[in-house]
Amino acid sequence: MAAMEYKTVYLGLGSNLGDRKDNLEKAIDYLSQRIRITMRSSIYDTEAMENREQPRFLNMVCQAKTIVKPQDLLVLAKAVERKMGRQPSSHNAPRTIDIDILLYGDEVIDTPELTVPHSSLPNRAFALVPLAEIVPNLVHPVSKKTVDSMLKDLDQGIQGIMKINCD
Ligand code: AMP
Repeated sequence: MAAMEYKTVYLGLGSNLGDRKDNLEKAIDYLSQRIRITMRSSIYDTEAMENREQPRFLNMVCQAKTIVKPQDLLVLAKAVERKMGRQPSSHNAPRTIDIDILLYGDEVIDTPELTVPHSSLPNRAFALVPLAEIVPNLVHPVSKKTVDSMLKDLDQGIQGIMKINCD
């Protein structure tokens, strides 16, 4: 029997509704029941990107090691979102929790339900800043850019992203 292969994955978490910090913690607790969280970034207070009328987000990134396959990881992420009361609503509406699969090892996936690496990763300071905090030299499997260089290439820079003190 082939050995089970653990992949290193990166998840982006965001919340802009209710107790945002508690929502991030609860989501990590739920995810931990199925995948092993091995690193987590600081939490950042960030401006809502596409629709600036919405409340600010808290965002963070977690690294996990898992044998859960990409499609099943998406099912898990959606199940946690549902369990935490996220309503299926319009694309840019406020949400208790949003969980994105940013990277799944060096796999490249392009299906109707799942795009990995996450298609918006190179444009999103709120994902790149926490990702760069934990793995600045990680290489994007398509563009071959490091996280640090994607961050430097951001058109909008990193204004509106503030690390929060969690002590
Ligand atoms: P959102 O409203 O931003 O949470 O987008 C949710 C939809 O994006 C989900 O229904 C997924 O099927 C799809 N999706 C595609 N690629 C990804 C990804 N890498 N991580 C999470 N969701 C994804």
